[in-house]
Amino acid sequence: MPKTSYVGRHRPAAKPSRGRQFVVPVALLSSTVAGGLVIRDAGASQLSAEAAAMKNVSNSVAGLGLAADPDAVAAAAANRAGARSSRDMARDAKTLIVGATETAEGAAARAKAAADKAAADKAAAAKAKADAAAKAKREALERAIARSHRWVSPVSGYTLTSGFGWRWGKMHPAQDLACPTGTSVRALSSGTVVFAGWSNEGYGYMVKIRYWDGTVSWMAHNSRLLVSIGEEVSPGQRVAYSGSTGNSTGPHVHLEIHPDDGSAVAPVTWLAKRGVYL
Ligand SMILES: [Zn+2]
Repeated sequence: MPKTSYVGRHRPAAKPSRGRQFVVPVALLSSTVAGGLVIRDAGASQLSAEAAAMKNVSNSVAGLGLAADPDAVAAAAANRAGARSSRDMARDAKTLIVGATETAEGAAARAKAAADKAAADKAAAAKAKADAAAKAKREALERAIARSHRWVSPVSGYTLTSGFGWRWGKMHPAQDLACPTGTSVRALSSGTVVFAGWSNEGYGYMVKIRYWDGTVSWMAHNSRLLVSIGEEVSPGQRVAYSGSTGNSTGPHVHLEIHPDDGSAVAPVTWLAKRGVYL
């Protein structure tokens, strides 16, 4: 018996059979899903999530008795994804539309607010202008009134002679202002001439003026009259030239002041209260 002892490594024992194994790549699964056989044979634990989804689709198709076309299955899955995308897009579009609407409404509101503000500003400017015009008019009127209501001296260049009071046992209700004949005699303020003519009571040519405050002045012994009864006069307006007509001993202006056309008062005092100092 030949010594053919086998000293090498001993022959490995045959592997015990562990039975047939189905090792199917996922890619193959996908490509053979049409038949459904492999997927059905494979255990669920051996399938990926994607393959499981495919199996469900395949089973559904198989249940209908139709051939499961991989392209159709993929298209269906894509359509479902596409459908979701469409909904998303629709939602996004709606959001955009709502956003655009809100933006438009906001723009409109801002435009209206701007228009309202512009109108309000315009109205305020118009009111300010009207107020300014009214104020200017009021002030102009006040200035006019102040001008017309001012009081002035009846003559310039005079000498005070006989004053208001008793003189030679007789009351002299006036202030005499001596001045050359022909001196301008002027209205004390604005008023109306109530008398202009010859006096039969010794006053000679006399002018009586009722002023805006009701006071009446008498200016007598004039040489010439320059106004007529009813004539309106302004402060300082020349109404006569002085003289010595009537009961007079020399050229002068006899000035009487009758508040409210009543009893005569002292002209110097009365005029001083109105800023005129004789
Ligand atoms: Zn007098």
